[in-house]
Amino acid sequence: MGDAGGAVAETATPGTAAPGTAQGAPSEARERHAELSELLEDANWRYYVLDSPTVSDAEYDGWMREIRALEERYPDLRTPDSPTQRVGAPISAEFPEVEHLQRMESLDNAFSEEDLAAWQARAQRLIEADPGPYLCELKIDGLAVALVYEKGRLVRGATRGNGRTGEDVTPNVRTLRDVPQRLTGSDVPDLIEVRGEVFLPVKGFEQLNEQLMDAGKAPFANPRNSAAGSLRMKDPRITAQRPLRMIVHGVGKWEGTTPPATQSEMYERLASFGLPVSDRYKVVASLDEVCEFVEYYNDHRHDPEYEIDGVVVKVDRVPVQRQLGSTSRAPRWAIAFKYPPQEVNTRLLDIQVGVGRTGRVTPFGVMKPVVVAGSTVERATLHNASEVARKGVLIGDTVVLRKAGDVIPEIVGPVVDLRDGTEREFVMPTHCPECGTELAYERAGDADLRCPNARSCPAQLRERIYFAAGRNAFDIDGLGYVAATALTQPLPPQEPPVRTEADLFDLTIEKLLPIKSVVRDPDSGLPKTDPKTGEPKVVSFFANISGEPSANAELILDQLKKKKDQPLWRVLVALTIRHIGPPTARALAAEFRSIDAIARASEEELAAVEGIGPRVAATIKEWFAVDWHQEIIEKWRAAGVRMADESPEDEGPRPLEGLTFVVTGTLADFSRDEASEAIGARGGKVTSSVSKKTSFLVVGDNPGSKYDKAVKAGVPILDEAGFRVLLDKGPDAARAVAVTPEE
Ligand code: NAD
Repeated sequence: MGDAGGAVAETATPGTAAPGTAQGAPSEARERHAELSELLEDANWRYYVLDSPTVSDAEYDGWMREIRALEERYPDLRTPDSPTQRVGAPISAEFPEVEHLQRMESLDNAFSEEDLAAWQARAQRLIEADPGPYLCELKIDGLAVALVYEKGRLVRGATRGNGRTGEDVTPNVRTLRDVPQRLTGSDVPDLIEVRGEVFLPVKGFEQLNEQLMDAGKAPFANPRNSAAGSLRMKDPRITAQRPLRMIVHGVGKWEGTTPPATQSEMYERLASFGLPVSDRYKVVASLDEVCEFVEYYNDHRHDPEYEIDGVVVKVDRVPVQRQLGSTSRAPRWAIAFKYPPQEVNTRLLDIQVGVGRTGRVTPFGVMKPVVVAGSTVERATLHNASEVARKGVLIGDTVVLRKAGDVIPEIVGPVVDLRDGTEREFVMPTHCPECGTELAYERAGDADLRCPNARSCPAQLRERIYFAAGRNAFDIDGLGYVAATALTQPLPPQEPPVRTEADLFDLTIEKLLPIKSVVRDPDSGLPKTDPKTGEPKVVSFFANISGEPSANAELILDQLKKKKDQPLWRVLVALTIRHIGPPTARALAAEFRSIDAIARASEEELAAVEGIGPRVAATIKEWFAVDWHQEIIEKWRAAGVRMADESPEDEGPRPLEGLTFVVTGTLADFSRDEASEAIGARGGKVTSSVSKKTSFLVVGDNPGSKYDKAVKAGVPILDEAGFRVLLDKGPDAARAVAVTPEE
């Protein structure tokens, strides 16, 4: 086959107007076109040559769309040197230049199902037949490299460069474990040029960035740039130290044997030669199935160990690929469906600090709001002062914001090249922003500064009350963040009705009615301001407009009465003893059965409980030694809060004792916490990873990789209905309805 990579060179026809479009662009369009060309060229240079982009891919793609639209409207702007007609960038002088045996192309993009349908319709029109079946595969976020094998021996590795000429990086490519020096098998072609993606797995990228930051260097913006930077090292010994991987996804020249007739057979052949081929591609017959593949990986974007930025769809039959050919920069027989970007650039407007429930003072970045991976982000934690220094971010910087893997956005680092000298360094405050107490490290060597005023710092108290009322503790409906703020906020001359947790169960309607409160943001703890006046927003939370108790005030008081009888472990969680979350609280309650027994226990006795070591045992002892903590317990006891689980039966039967569960995906009627809580309440244990010892996997919609692991390990799988059977009827009944994969 001449070119399974599809390089049937065919240039667009510059300067020819499509029928019905205006000829001759007006000067504003010409100026904008020139401006966009310049922006794109500069971006290409920084991205492909320096591996250090200053704009996000989303911005770049936006410019590209705009310039394309201009050229669509005014075709005379589409000259052969337009960025829309070219691949990559001029190549760096750091490496010898090398001509590719066959041109390496880029890919056209689709951002919606409509775009995919339009691509398919165009192909169908061109060949007057159904172009299917299609091969769907992952678009790995790395850099394209071509390998040349002569008589089965690796003779060259080159980057894509501008598509015709690339950079000769042979010594560097030879250091990649995935790249065989010699091909195996009896039918190896005399000459073969294989294309693929060189990438850093996400873990490798994170580790590399840690190392760079520790060495005081700027981190890479994303795995793609880190892979390109690592491969394009002057010294191949450094490349060898980076955990680079490669997956092949195309062929250029093929001489000496008959090439396969489909893309999928080609992958099988390449694998038989010992080349690294993805195990996540799929051949499908219809566009609907293509869309299913796209959707599946949108939900499972983080299953692969490497980052993907989309899905590539290729016409599977090579003769059809040839028939379709290419434009000047991309094949018509393939298209890249791009997912929303996970990295964006935005401005770091300020770094502020928040005070948490244990007094920890955490700096967080306040950013110009920006949409990343589907949601608007304006704040991201920076953890502590040394992390701010390590990341090297200054207030006023343009920063790379990344939301990968989980839902928590992270500031990766600054775009140093965009600094203009007005940026300033963040200085960690010396005093608590809410109560003015001098901040201190608890122990020498601690990373976190804390506000030592645990008892009456309004920030700490507000966070503790909010937490004590939360789902893992007393579970008090109506007592959310605004109510917790109202209950604890000093607003002179007004005294807050809750001065420590001790006051929580003594609340009365008379105490609540007069309370006014500043509204605060639950993420940052900062006051919200009235957009009209710019003043902090003050609300009267517990009284309605006529001064009567609000429905919420009544709900809270009613709930406080009802929730006094929560089991001991919940009371323990509500006390904010450091390191005591639900699992340890359960273990403590099961072992000691009363708060008094826990208070009396020695450090050794405490440390013998599952999940509690000497350090946590010491923290528990310290907590009970504080007089105002004692007062909380005494006042709660006096108010009728349960302080002991009288007998083991108190918690009801424990039919799931000794069994381990993993929960994955979204259940319709249970949050993840609620499912874990339901299992825990019946004596079962919930863990986060699947092993052969897992008793059951509970799956909801869109399960993650745990599902595949469970199938491999032969773990019985329960859907939501099966989970209900488990809770209502116990493990034997659940086993009867579970699906048990064959090992
Ligand atoms: P592309 O990334 O949109 O797609 C083409 C590339 O995809 C191929 O060259 C190949 O390397 C890669 N690829 C990954 N998996 C593949 C698979 N399974 N099959 C085939 N190819 C696969 O195009 P491009 O020309 O490499 O780069 C353009 C994109 O790069 C832009 O859309 C933008 O997002 C980004 N970019 C950003 C900047 C910036 O400054 N931020 C500058 C230049 C380019």
